Amino acid sequence: MVVANQKGGVGKTTSTVNLAAALAIHGLKVLVIDLDPQGNASTALSVEHRSGTPSVYEVLIGEMSVAEAAQVSTASPNLYCVPATIDLAGAEIELVSMVARESRLKEALSPEALDSIRPDYVFIDCPPSLGLLTVNAMVAAQEVLIPIQCEYYALEGLGQLLRNIELVQAHLNPTLSVSTILLTMYDGRTKLADQVTSEVRGHFGDTVLRTVIPRSVKVSEAPGYGQTVLAYDPGSRGAMSYLDAAREIAEFGSRMGTA
Ligand code: ADP
Ligand code: MG
Repeated sequence: MVVANQKGGVGKTTSTVNLAAALAIHGLKVLVIDLDPQGNASTALSVEHRSGTPSVYEVLIGEMSVAEAAQVSTASPNLYCVPATIDLAGAEIELVSMVARESRLKEALSPEALDSIRPDYVFIDCPPSLGLLTVNAMVAAQEVLIPIQCEYYALEGLGQLLRNIELVQAHLNPTLSVSTILLTMYDGRTKLADQVTSEVRGHFGDTVLRTVIPRSVKVSEAPGYGQTVLAYDPGSRGAMSYLDAAREIAEFGSRMGTA
C-alpha cells in the first residue's frame, strides 16, 4: 500500500508508521519502505538511518536486496523497515538514466525477494512530490492510501494526484487503485474540519475510512522519542484512532482477499 499525497505535512509518515505498528500489534507482519530522503518514517520506527546505512537507495540502484536492507523496528518484532538515508536525495535524478527506472522498486519487492520476510502488508511512505520515487511506489503497489488533512486547502492538489494515479494505471500499473482515504488532524472545535470531512466523504464515499484521526499533541510528540503513538501513549485518542483505522484496513483487506 503506497501512502501518497504530494502535499507535505498532511500526515503521510505519521499514518504510515502508526498504521503499520497497529497492524503489527495484531500479529501481522508489516514491512515499511521509507521512500522519503528525510527519513522521518525511519526515525519514528527507531531504525538506524545515518548516511551509509544499508537503505532503500542501495535497493533502488540494485546493489542490495530488500531483505538485506530491512531492519526490525524496536516498535515490534513483526515490524520491518527499509530506511531512507540522505543518500536517497540524489536518487530522483540518478534514476532518470537507469533502465526500467519506474519499476525498480517493484522488481525489488518481488515475491522471491520478500521470501525471507513474508510480510502481510507493505507500506511505502512517499516524499512530498510526484517524481520518480513516488512513481516507483505506485508501480510497486496495488493500493493507494491518501491522507487528507482536515484543513483549509486540503483538497488543493488532489486533482493532480488523482490524474497522476490515472496515468500510472494507464501506462505502468493497471492493478493500482485508490483504496483508502484517511482524514487526519481533525480538530472537532472547528467548523472547517467538519466541512472538509463532509466534502471529502461526499466526493469519495466509502473509500474514506469511518475512523478520523484527531489532531493530538501525543501523535506529534511520539516521533521525537523514536516511538509510534501506540507505544508512546497507548491509551491516547491518537493511538486508539490509528488502531481503529488499521482494523478497518485489515477488514477491507480480508474482504478483498488481499490481506
Ligand atoms: P507528511 O509525511 O505528509 O509530510 P507528517 O506525518 O510528517 O506529514 O506530519 C506533519 C506534521 O504534523 C508532523 O510534525 C507530525 O508530527 C504532525 N502530525 C501528524 N499527524 C498529527 C496529528 N494527528 N495530530 C497532531 N500532529 C500531527
Ligand atoms: Mg513524510
